Amino acid sequence: MGLQDIQARIAAAVRAAGRAEGSVSLIAVSKVQPPERVAAILAEGQRLFGENYVQEAAGKWPAWRVQFPGVAVHMIGPLQTNKAKQAVELFEAIHTLDRPSLATKLASLAQARGASPNLFVQVNTGAEPQKAGVLPEALDAFVAETRRLDLPVVGLMCIPPEQEDPAPHFALLAEMAARNGLAGLSMGMSSDFEAAIAAGATHVRVGSAIFGARDYGAKA
Ligand SMILES: *Cc1c(COP(=O)(O)O)cnc(C)c1O
Repeated sequence: MGLQDIQARIAAAVRAAGRAEGSVSLIAVSKVQPPERVAAILAEGQRLFGENYVQEAAGKWPAWRVQFPGVAVHMIGPLQTNKAKQAVELFEAIHTLDRPSLATKLASLAQARGASPNLFVQVNTGAEPQKAGVLPEALDAFVAETRRLDLPVVGLMCIPPEQEDPAPHFALLAEMAARNGLAGLSMGMSSDFEAAIAAGATHVRVGSAIFGARDYGAKA
């Protein structure tokens, strides 16, 4: 498929939804991809990327940041509290704030540094036991707590259950964001970003449709 196809499909979905041009940011999810594939997308002009693993991001992005000014990298994978310090130094945004202990840790890091990445609260819209994220019924209280901690929460993020129609999950996330006065909606991946844009996504996280399939065997 490639970058330009995805950009064109995003623009078409934005138009079809009657939304403003440029209202959706494409996060190119580069986790586990070989460096030459990522370098090719950088050369095409893409500057916003998503990574799932702190260690992997720490290994590859510092050099590319020097080489390609304007690069921003967002953390979209589960974040262990003991990696939070490294994460706030590496990423412009973290999409996976999902528990009070991590909120407390990020708040103390923000105090110490006088700065914090923008944060999205991950919501487990399908209430799946194996999946990270705040449960929908706990979301409003959690967002209130992040405000009390003075954290820069800018939006919500979700990963809908794999075997379900994602549209109701996107609609639920949009409703919860509106109710909490949050403008950001990080939702939509390779298989469903157009539906997410129709439901109001501001950030879509697209990996394999841009880079090709991930080869986890090659990473290990
Ligand atoms: C890997 C990943 C993506 C990208 O998935 P694709 O299906 O390759 O587009 C998006 N969001 C999250 C949270 C991911 O972990």
